[in-house]
Amino acid sequence: MQYPEPIAKLIDGYMKLPGIGEKTAVRLAFYTISMDTDDVNEFSQALVAAKKNLHYCSICGNITESDPCVICADKGRDRTKVIVVEQSKDVMSLEKMREYHGLYHVLHGVLSPMEGRGPEDINIASLVKRLQKNPDLTEVIIATNATPEGEATAMYISRLIKPANIKVTRLAHGLAVGSDIEYADEMTLYKAIEGRQEI
Ligand SMILES: [Zn+2]
Repeated sequence: MQYPEPIAKLIDGYMKLPGIGEKTAVRLAFYTISMDTDDVNEFSQALVAAKKNLHYCSICGNITESDPCVICADKGRDRTKVIVVEQSKDVMSLEKMREYHGLYHVLHGVLSPMEGRGPEDINIASLVKRLQKNPDLTEVIIATNATPEGEATAMYISRLIKPANIKVTRLAHGLAVGSDIEYADEMTLYKAIEGRQEI
């Protein structure tokens, strides 16, 4: 039996989301149909509006409504430090801590030879350019996740920018191996930044 086309399309749409297989997509599609019309409208408008109004900051790569983003535009931030993270979500986690007042750089991924993702596939080139253009930026704190890909990415960036006399540090291992920044609590993140070590 085939699904009516509107449901089939909905299933296809859900299956494009990360971590959602066919079974889950079917469940979500049928659930969506059972929802209130108002809720569905609100949800669909939120999807379109988020896509339309949010962009990547041309300086740091973070998701933003304005370009440059509020963090890059904030004159009060410490412009000597930049924390390099895998995703915009990590910026939100670190900002929640309220202890770090420097800048950020979002890679939008990590190096992964297994998945064929090289340096040109993530936001590394713009970090190098940024460092060249801003001599005040003297420390790069690498906060990629403690996964093999995150570590490999940290080493790659370190080797790339250290010759330019930039201090490169890595978050301390308060973060468990294999753990993600986004799941760490604020105290753990604070300690990880405080105890960062040069690599
Ligand atoms: Zn920015």
